[in-house]
Amino acid sequence: SKVLLKVDHLKKYFPIRQGMFARHVGDVKAVDDVSFELYEGETLGIVGESGCGKSTTGRAIMRLHEPTEGKVLFDGIELTDLNNEQMRKVRRDIQMVFQDPYASLNPRHTVEKILEEPLIVHGIGNAKERKNKVREYLEIVGLSSYHAKRYPHQFSGGQRQRIGIARALMTNPKLIIADEPVSALDVSIQAQVLNLMQRLQDDLKLTYIFIAHDLGVVRHISDRVGVMYLGRLVEIAESELLYHEPLHPYTQALLSAVPVPDPVFEREQLLLKGDIPSPSNPPTGCTFHTRCPHAMEKCKQVIPMLQQVKSGHSVACHLYEAPQ
Ligand code: SF4
Ligand code: MG
Repeated sequence: SKVLLKVDHLKKYFPIRQGMFARHVGDVKAVDDVSFELYEGETLGIVGESGCGKSTTGRAIMRLHEPTEGKVLFDGIELTDLNNEQMRKVRRDIQMVFQDPYASLNPRHTVEKILEEPLIVHGIGNAKERKNKVREYLEIVGLSSYHAKRYPHQFSGGQRQRIGIARALMTNPKLIIADEPVSALDVSIQAQVLNLMQRLQDDLKLTYIFIAHDLGVVRHISDRVGVMYLGRLVEIAESELLYHEPLHPYTQALLSAVPVPDPVFEREQLLLKGDIPSPSNPPTGCTFHTRCPHAMEKCKQVIPMLQQVKSGHSVACHLYEAPQ
């Protein structure tokens, strides 16, 4: 199927400044040479520990963080070439859902006003059409039109996330970047919101990037999953392949930490040793070498590149490189 988004060698470095002259002493390499393609109608999960660059990747795609280097091709348009006005128009087609719906909804506005705002910003419809669309979308996300006059604090966490999702849908976007949309919710509510997102994807022909810190959360919603570590994409594969045959030692460790419901299939716990290194001073070579049980001499020196090792499965690890 069609490639909707192509992220090409994307980098986002945040400069570190020190001293009274704010001398540039280094960079936090939040996103470091990330490339992937996203197909229309699919869900790509992006997973990693906090600080791995997954949220920054999402924001750099939308240019909420200006990329340091690299290209982002969305629906045939090179986003990094656009001026602010052109970019503003594209944001109609790319919307975000955030982790904390309470923080992202203006507490002084009614739900109606919150949902109407993106329509006003993008000049969609007249007042009556906008009000009708607000009511329609409240129902689409499982709320009801009598909620329109209420304020965010009058809703539960799960309902607030439904409002956050409705707001993202108001402009009929093609791509939704959901940044830990269920992480702040109770486990019992998480499944409801995930089911809603899947239903909306089918009904509205949406494409998702679904960011999470936990491989368990994205398993059922994702067609493919990418794993990030210290700003790099270290593995990307079709979901079935990733969960059944994880190749990267980091993915293997993350998966061994996911609780397995059936004790017969309990995995050997491959616990990660050591803390995640600082992204301002990442290890040389493979940035995972300080924690990797398979690290070799080469790993300290040479950065492994993401390479396809079989159909639908790419990994950045020297263990899988063809012998020279
Ligand atoms: Fe481990 Fe080396 Fe592979 Fe990095 S490249 S994950 S250190 S084996
Ligand atoms: Mg799907």
